[in-house]
Amino acid sequence: MVFWFIINTSGKYTIFLAKLPSKCYFCRTFHSFDNIYMRIDILTVVPELLESPLSHSIVGRAIKKGLVEIHVHNLRRYGKGPRQQVDDYSYGGDAGMVLMIEPVYNMIQELKAEREYDEVIYMSPDGEILNQNIANELSLKGNLILLCGHYKGIDHRIREHLVTREISVGDYVLSGGELPAAILADSIIRLIPGALSDETSALSDSFQDGLVSAPIYTRPAEFNGWKVPDVLLSGNPKLIQKWQDEQAIERTKKLRPKLLEE
Ligand code: SAH
Repeated sequence: MVFWFIINTSGKYTIFLAKLPSKCYFCRTFHSFDNIYMRIDILTVVPELLESPLSHSIVGRAIKKGLVEIHVHNLRRYGKGPRQQVDDYSYGGDAGMVLMIEPVYNMIQELKAEREYDEVIYMSPDGEILNQNIANELSLKGNLILLCGHYKGIDHRIREHLVTREISVGDYVLSGGELPAAILADSIIRLIPGALSDETSALSDSFQDGLVSAPIYTRPAEFNGWKVPDVLLSGNPKLIQKWQDEQAIERTKKLRPKLLEE
């Protein structure tokens, strides 16, 4: 039996599904999971931004299977005063509001009192740029906190004293860390064994072997005179693999030449 709860009590959102038995990656039989593989806690002032990206598709299914729990916490729960203030003007008079220390500190303390965390990750435009290696590495962790900034950013002391790692989704500035946190969570969760229906497909994705992937096609074999390469219709696995390897190298040379230098 499956129960889906999105609880919204005093600003605390929880996306949770009763654990289903799931097919074991190793022995290909069904076990019920006594322990989930991973727990991700996301701290934000706009929890609504995270609801949809984390409820559907592969991530939604991974939650349903009990492979991962995602808890989205509204920092306003620890906001100051009757207006639950979470931001204030910046010292130095720069334009834009700054996320205050106390709500972040209190929320992290609350979570750390319940369990240990492998990383407290701040989503930041000047952090290390997310790539497949980082996603692979983080997919092996147990408990992660993702902290989303907003407005002008967060009080720098949070970064100095509470955050263990900073990750960016690219050299451009977004309005908040929620979309970056959803991107990071997605890139990690799809790697958890059992999250993808065909687990090997993550291995043939771009960047896993330092190359971009070969072109892919589906039926019909011809549309509008546009044909699928003959080799893919040959039924010869060796020839197909050779063609895919060559294509991956060719496309990497053209699209991401730096990968071949690494
Ligand atoms: N003033 C900051 C930008 C703040 S943008 C600066 O100049 O660096 C507001 C928040 O959005 C940030 O605190 C961060 O959490 C998030 N954010 C914006 N762009 C991002 C990116 N490229 N990667 C990750 N997080 C980002």
